[in-house]
Amino acid sequence: MYDKLFINGDWVAPRCGKTLAVINPATEEVIAEVAAGGAADVDRAVAAAKQAFTGWSKTSGAQRGVYLRAIARAIEARAQELAALSSSNNGKPLFEAQIDIEDAIATWDYYAGLAEQLDARQNAEVPLAMPGYRSSSRLEPAGVVGLIVPWNFPFVTTAWKVAPALAAGCTLVLKPSEVTPLVELQLGTIAQSVGLPAGVINIVCGSGSDVGSALTVHPDIAKISFTGSNRVGEIVMQSVAKQVKGLSLELGGKSPMLVMDDADLDQATDWILGGIFYNAGQMCSATSRLLLHDSIAPKLLQRLKTATQALKLGDAFEEGVQMGPLTSKAQFDTVMGYIERGRAEGLTLLTGGTRAEGFERGYFIEPTIFVDVPTDSALWREEIFGPVLCVRTFSSEAEAIELANDSDFGLAAGIISQDSARAQRIAEQLQAGHIWINSLQVVCPETSWGGFKRSGIGRELGPWGLSAYQEVKHITRPLSELESN
Ligand code: NAD
Repeated sequence: MYDKLFINGDWVAPRCGKTLAVINPATEEVIAEVAAGGAADVDRAVAAAKQAFTGWSKTSGAQRGVYLRAIARAIEARAQELAALSSSNNGKPLFEAQIDIEDAIATWDYYAGLAEQLDARQNAEVPLAMPGYRSSSRLEPAGVVGLIVPWNFPFVTTAWKVAPALAAGCTLVLKPSEVTPLVELQLGTIAQSVGLPAGVINIVCGSGSDVGSALTVHPDIAKISFTGSNRVGEIVMQSVAKQVKGLSLELGGKSPMLVMDDADLDQATDWILGGIFYNAGQMCSATSRLLLHDSIAPKLLQRLKTATQALKLGDAFEEGVQMGPLTSKAQFDTVMGYIERGRAEGLTLLTGGTRAEGFERGYFIEPTIFVDVPTDSALWREEIFGPVLCVRTFSSEAEAIELANDSDFGLAAGIISQDSARAQRIAEQLQAGHIWINSLQVVCPETSWGGFKRSGIGRELGPWGLSAYQEVKHITRPLSELESN
């Protein structure tokens, strides 16, 4: 299967003959060679999706819901296997990969529900102030869509795009990350196992410059939904502009965590660590800027140092491991580059700052905390996407809010306070798409995902995630015509 692409319901050999070496980041061993496509394969996949669109777009929401639920059950039946595959490719501890698979199942089920509700919403009458006319609205699928995903949450990011796209009645071409294609390819076998019509889902692995860019300029692709870095997001945006395609962008973040003077310090320690070291910090929503009230900073920093140094690093499958390696050599180099830059800037290290000791192989980095980081430091302003936390203190609520909002990004934020009214007041002033009060990265299919400012354009999840794949159509006619018929 790994030597093929999934096009038109079948596993087919790629035309360009390239392969991708897939690495286990804990061992640096090649665990698979995956077939990589090129522009000719994108053409084939888009042609299959275009042909399938004719039938799939005319199915009822209820019919599509049946397929989505069947996919959710098929994932459930293979949950352990899929989680293990994800861990071996991404490096995340097995319990984290299991959570990913559960999230994916919840997403498929949620969009099955929204698909089932769609039929009752079609041809809904729209009240008009203008006399003599009647108008009704329809929600129609956007067309063939191109979905481009990164490597940090394989199967989850993919479910957030594929499930609503199918629910809306779109057909699609998915391009997995070249770093983590293994679990994504299983979606092809799952589509086959539930009898999804050929061409509705197509999967073309390959590089961004070959497959990704071919998708963004393909004339038969109506919309691109992209999750990834700001650097590539900008390229994608320019690329789709030439054909005025629809575009959703889920990009980077530099999210703040605000800890107020009334915080429970033990709880705060857990949430701060989880917000930056889960998935080895490779989270767009990582709360990588920590803002501490002056009065609690010394005590909390001491706790953070102790708890961070006690974190168990290791192979995803080892008992008790809390943090895995960085997912690729490239990401390891990027993160080490930032740490070296922090040292060169003379920043103060609370803990970490080196390649993890005791590992002969693997892209392991010590969980790292820099304190008193100036707001003009690259480490404070740029997304590092690794286990590096930057800390500053504040003395008033207003200062905390100002520091939190002083960022190009606006994906998420955390607030820790025992004063519920105060936390709500602060949450309402923060410029971010999702604010967590006294909780850790709680993401549900019903709530939106996406950011303010340079964190992206549009929203995934919730009804907004479905709208992203729909066109709105109104049909308006004179009342007299209706009355005479
Ligand atoms: P990336 O931008 O390097 O790659 C993302 C995808 O784009 C990959 O599949 C890649 O092959 C493809 N790509 C590369 N060049 C392309 C081109 N010219 N045209 C089209 N596609 C191209 O990102 P990454 O390193 O895989 O992922 C990390 C980034 O993703 C981080 O910045 C992170 O914040 C972001 N991310 C955001 C969210 C979110 O929901 N906002 C979620 C996860 C990750």
